[in-house]
Amino acid sequence: MDCNVTNANYERVVAVMGKYLNERYKNVCGCPRCVNDIAAIALNYLPPHYYVEMDKDREIGSPWVMVESAVVEAIDRVMEKPNHSLHKPHETTPQGPAALMG
Ligand SMILES: [Zn+2]
Repeated sequence: MDCNVTNANYERVVAVMGKYLNERYKNVCGCPRCVNDIAAIALNYLPPHYYVEMDKDREIGSPWVMVESAVVEAIDRVMEKPNHSLHKPHETTPQGPAALMG
């Protein structure tokens, strides 16, 4: 069986996460575990929107505002309860840029 479908919201979540983690949430742990947890939680907030072929004239997936709030919610949850010890893998120094952002 050759099954090939894509969840449009997956691509949107990945795009928003990339933007947020690089700009707005620089102090968030960016280890693969946390990044994947954020993606999974955000995707669970959103309804799945599978498609077979991309139609350029049609918007697919949830509205961007919904995707953005799902990602923010997911980041908050993972930061509150990361699925690994808080002391690892990234130790931030008090003088580091992350400290300045409060
Ligand atoms: Zn982490």
